[in-house]
This record gives sequence, structure tokens and C-alpha cells, in this order.
Amino acid sequence: MTKRKLLKLQKQQDFIEEKGIIYLDNVTKSYSTGSPAINGITLSIYRGEFVFIVGDSGSGKSTLIRLLLRELTATGGHAYVMGQDLAQIKHRNIPKFRRNLGVVFQDFRLLNDRNVYENVAFAQRVVEMTNRDIRRNVPSMLATVGLAGKYKAKTTQLSGGEQQRVALARALVNNPSILLADEPTGNLDPHNSWEIMGLLEEINERGTTVVVVTHNREIVNAMKKRVVAMKKGIIVSDMEEGVYNDEED
Ligand code: ADP
Ligand code: MG
Repeated sequence: MTKRKLLKLQKQQDFIEEKGIIYLDNVTKSYSTGSPAINGITLSIYRGEFVFIVGDSGSGKSTLIRLLLRELTATGGHAYVMGQDLAQIKHRNIPKFRRNLGVVFQDFRLLNDRNVYENVAFAQRVVEMTNRDIRRNVPSMLATVGLAGKYKAKTTQLSGGEQQRVALARALVNNPSILLADEPTGNLDPHNSWEIMGLLEEINERGTTVVVVTHNREIVNAMKKRVVAMKKGIIVSDMEEGVYNDEED
């Protein structure tokens, strides 16, 4: 590695240490109509944290996640992930940037014409892993999410909880630094919701930074994690070992 590259990496690491692995600096996102979905948010999430994002429907939670994924760009302020200013990432470098991020959604978004193994392997093929690595990584990841025996199953034959585990395995198989989950238990029953949250906690304990958008009051209150509450595009509270409060108008 060249000296210049090393220095750049060092600067990036220093930035992450100081400002956070996710750092929003007065970020606004306005869509073409209506009031801003995100309205001047400043937020630092540090390496290794587990953070819940809560708030009523329409408060800007998914917009926030989509900004972090660089699916959307901020209309004001600056957003940084892994020390990179998202507005500066060139189009051709977006896929490489996204390798830092694993993501799961409420509706699983699996490839339903492929089996469980192929859904997870697909994520590895996209980043051009060798077949040898894929054959090692995919079964190990499926075991981690408790699906060791199901790798040949069709995704359509799985329960919701199992489908979300596949999505989680797919999100994690490339070993991202950050996992973003947008209402991952929104379609699950209480038992499966707890199982998925337990897995997220385990993944966090292994070092991945985890950000979870959720409406699940019971789980948020029980897990005693940092809770960032949003309302109408702003952060109304941010508490360590927080609880899910009903904000009064
Ligand atoms: P949440 O995930 O907290 O429910 P969203 O981020 O989805 O909130 O939405 C925040 C606000 O932005 C809402 O008022 C919503 O209607 C609006 N919004 C979301 N997506 C779009 C879009 N693609 N175009 C226009 N407005 C949008
Ligand atoms: Mg949403």
C-alpha cells in the first residue's frame, strides 16, 4: 500500500473514532412535495453500538435508512458512513460502498425462484467471492441464523421467521461493518420477533454495528439499548438504555 493510501486510511479511522461510523451533520431530506421527511438531523452512531430508531409512521425512519444506503441523497447537510461523505461517492463506487452495509427489510425481499442456499450465495457471487469461499461461508452463515438444515428449501415454503433469517444471513454473509434493519419484525409473530432480535443482538456482540428501526415497544423496552426517537423528521430523544415512549403532542 502506498504511503498516501495509508494516510488516507488513517484519517478515515480517526474520523470514525471521533464522529462515528455513522455521522449525520444537520441532514435534511426533502422530497419534491410536502414538508421535509428529515429536517436537520445531527446524529453519531459509534462502532459497535446497537441502536433502535423508533417513531410514528411518517416520522422519517425509512428515509434515514435509505440515505445511509445511498439510495437517496440529502438535500441539506452532510451524511458520512465509515468516514465517507455520501455525497462524494461516485456512482460507479456505490456498489463497493454498499459492501460495508448489510440490510434487512420488513418484507424480506428474497429471490423466490431460488432456494435458501442460493439466496445467500447470491450476495457472495455479486462481490465475486470464489466458489470455494462461498461453499465455506454460506453454510456457516446459515448455521448462525439457525437454518443449517434448510439450505435446500424453497423460500416460499418457509415461515415468515425463517424467511427473515434467510434475509439476515444474506445481509451478513459478506461480513459488513454495519447492519441496517428497517422494521425487521414488522411481519412476524411475537415469538419470531424475539428470535430475530436475539440474533441481531448476537451479531452486534460479535462486533457489527446494528441499527434497527422498529415499532415493537415490548422488545425495545426489554432490550435496554440506545433508543433514538424521531418525530416529523427530527430527533426528539436519544437515550442510552432507553424506552419506547409515547410522545405527547
Ligand atoms: P417512516 O419510515 O418513519 O414511516 P418515511 O421515511 O417512510 O417515514 O416517510 C417520511 C415522510 O416522507 C412521510 O411524510 C412520507 O409520506 C414521505 N415520503 C417517503 N417517501 C417518499 C417519496 N418517495 N416521495 C415523497 N414523499 C415521501
Ligand atoms: Mg418506514
